[in-house]
Amino acid sequence: MRAIIFDPAHGNNVAGKRSPDGELLEWKWSREIIYKTIPLLKASGISCYITNTEDYEIGLRERVRICNSIKENKKLLISIHLNGAGDGTKWCNARGFEVWTTIGEKKCDFFARKFIEKYKEVFPDLKNRGAKEMNFTVLTCDCPAVLLEIAFQDNKEDKEMVMNNEFKNKLIHDFLYPVLYDIATKIY
Ligand SMILES: [Zn+2]
Repeated sequence: MRAIIFDPAHGNNVAGKRSPDGELLEWKWSREIIYKTIPLLKASGISCYITNTEDYEIGLRERVRICNSIKENKKLLISIHLNGAGDGTKWCNARGFEVWTTIGEKKCDFFARKFIEKYKEVFPDLKNRGAKEMNFTVLTCDCPAVLLEIAFQDNKEDKEMVMNNEFKNKLIHDFLYPVLYDIATKIY
């Protein structure tokens, strides 16, 4: 069994990270999705942890330290974000889903592909921008880690979509939960 370490996006004290109209707050949205996904996994007997249980930003290095301090044989860190194409002051055109992992072919890339495959299956009409690589601080923890950019908070259509309860439920129940359940329970 693999434990799932959730990493919520940013904090309420981080500038920007919201829709241009201020209606969608990335830190809050990310925490909502995470806190609604955890009970489903726990009900299936999967251990879940959160790197930052505060609403404010505790620091990216601190998130890594907390992840590394969790004593489980196998772990996956999943960071849940919303993307931005501009500086946050105006609406932009970019839309779609991305999965980020550290640079190089590693186990995390295998898990990233699981998210991409499921996304295509659950959201066939939505844009899938695929797998990307960057050594983001939280991804440098001691276990495989993926960072999901679910959609663009500075795209009007994406913003309306991610704030919609039907979309949130589908994202949690049909996408996040099945992929995480599979990763947690199968021997990868
Ligand atoms: Zn973010």
